[in-house]
Amino acid sequence: MTFEELGLRREVLKSLTELGFEAPTPIQEQAIPYLLGEDCDFVGLAQTGTGKTAAFGLPLINNIDNKARLPQGLIICPTRELCLQITKDLNVFSKYLEGNITAVYGGTDIRTQITSVKKGTSIIVATPGRLVDLINRKVVQLGEVKYVILDEADEMLNMGFKEDIDMILEQTPIDKNVWLFSATMPNEVARIARTYMHDPLEVSIGHKNQSNENIEHIYYSVKERDRYDAVKRLIDFNPTIYGLIFCRTKNETATVAMKLARDGYNAEPLHGDLTQAMRDRVMERFRSKELQILVATDVAARGLDINNITHVINYNLPDDIENYTHRSGRTARAGKTGESLVLINTRENVKIKAIERQMRVTFKQGKIPNPAEICEIQLKKLIDNTISTEVKESDIAPFMEQILASFADLSKEEVIKRFVSAEFNRFIEYYERAGDLNAAASKDDRERSDRKERPKRAREEGKTRFFVNLGRRDGLNPGAMVRIICDATGLKSKSLGRIDIMTSFSFVEADDEHTQKILKLVDGYEFEGHKVSIEVTSPGQGGSEGGRDRKFSKGPGSKRGPGSFGGGKKPGFEKKGGFDKKRSGGFDRERGFGAKRKKY
Ligand code: AMP
Repeated sequence: MTFEELGLRREVLKSLTELGFEAPTPIQEQAIPYLLGEDCDFVGLAQTGTGKTAAFGLPLINNIDNKARLPQGLIICPTRELCLQITKDLNVFSKYLEGNITAVYGGTDIRTQITSVKKGTSIIVATPGRLVDLINRKVVQLGEVKYVILDEADEMLNMGFKEDIDMILEQTPIDKNVWLFSATMPNEVARIARTYMHDPLEVSIGHKNQSNENIEHIYYSVKERDRYDAVKRLIDFNPTIYGLIFCRTKNETATVAMKLARDGYNAEPLHGDLTQAMRDRVMERFRSKELQILVATDVAARGLDINNITHVINYNLPDDIENYTHRSGRTARAGKTGESLVLINTRENVKIKAIERQMRVTFKQGKIPNPAEICEIQLKKLIDNTISTEVKESDIAPFMEQILASFADLSKEEVIKRFVSAEFNRFIEYYERAGDLNAAASKDDRERSDRKERPKRAREEGKTRFFVNLGRRDGLNPGAMVRIICDATGLKSKSLGRIDIMTSFSFVEADDEHTQKILKLVDGYEFEGHKVSIEVTSPGQGGSEGGRDRKFSKGPGSKRGPGSFGGGKKPGFEKKGGFDKKRSGGFDRERGFGAKRKKY
């Protein structure tokens, strides 16, 4: 089917041709002819990436009086980013039509938006909170609205906009058309459909709550403490990744991004503690592919509309299955394919089964690539980069004589070997002691990995037991506890003994001789934005969570401010190429193995 056959106006078709849209997507094919008709309500179950903005945007601009001064079209969506994206798309679609499309959204000066609305506008694209504000100020009048579009309705309800949406819809004429788009159909969305719509046509691209078929879902079973290393391997194994890593909390997001940046990856965080200006900057860098990896919370990444994302990595599974639909839907957009990779611990298999049932997808079990596989891939990347490196003949010409003389005694093969080794040794060194990270790995592999990363447990005699004020809910796990103590004191992990992580505090044992050192150096140490406080347990201590918890409840001063990683130091990701080569294996992710490339 072609766009001409759908019945759109000439002016609209002209802009589509310019945009290079050749044929309608499935949701457009089903929605547009119906929405061009009169008096219809519509429910479209479709994810972002299916072309849903054009599915409602084209019939909307086609149908309304574009010269109207009071809004005839009202689009409500969950986030500022989506609001701006829709406005931009609509402006492009209506290039050959008159009319004003006004975006109103929170987090920015309301006065300019008031001026724009007052100038007269045929369509308002709004986030719910700001729109309610403008209605209350009597700036926005919705009495002439003919079409209301609720985009990403499930997200808006997730974000707590239920009352705002009800209030807004009550301001609109009773005979309006309501078009609702949602990736999933929870009860609350169904309630909106029942309350405000009459006999809507329901079009579902795929099943309800179903994910895009172009996404490959793969899960990896790893030990809790190996999560971060596993992510690094997945990235190393996919050197051209343009990826989004989802974490559950702001803290975890900041920490993972900071560690990745420190380890030489081109990664930055996106979460609610960043200022709007910082978020805009990060998004822009990601959108323009200057940034290769964005580490985000679910909320911050809502409305992120970027094509070509190759991988979504779920650092943790989201609590809510519907969030998994949203996360994975960030890849495989506009007909492309993509992978959604999930790291689970050994107890989370049941959650994968639940997602499979609800989303009707099948997960493959993946294996975290082993060091040899990664080295092979990276070596190939190094060779490809070398071959495709542009030689600036005139710049290098003056040095050629000297260069050739220096290598005169080496064969071509020796020269190649040395150049490759100069870049590759660091990588091999990093991986040579690394074991298998798959949870079901053989005992030998695990022990190899354990020697490198894990404390020996057992000996209790001759050990002192310490109380630590942080626990599971602060992101602490046994591996993190070992890192804190070893990093702060320089002790080897074998000096530590039993570790018990409770919800809000923990215990750790260490050889008696290190007690003073641990008390001196670990106390006040920073962990993921929290100050560690440590003390020797008194005899008989070590039971009731409540009691300890009260004593050590963290005051407001213990958290670092937004965007401040590493105790007021510059965020690690602002360093370019200055990462710790020993730790990271020495790649400059932006440049690959020495090849100069702005984008990867
Ligand atoms: P959406 O689901 O509206 O976020 O659209 C996803 C992406 O697909 C956007 O970048 C659109 O510009 C693009 N797109 C939408 N419809 C078409 C089409 N018919 N042909 C090609 N690209 C499209």
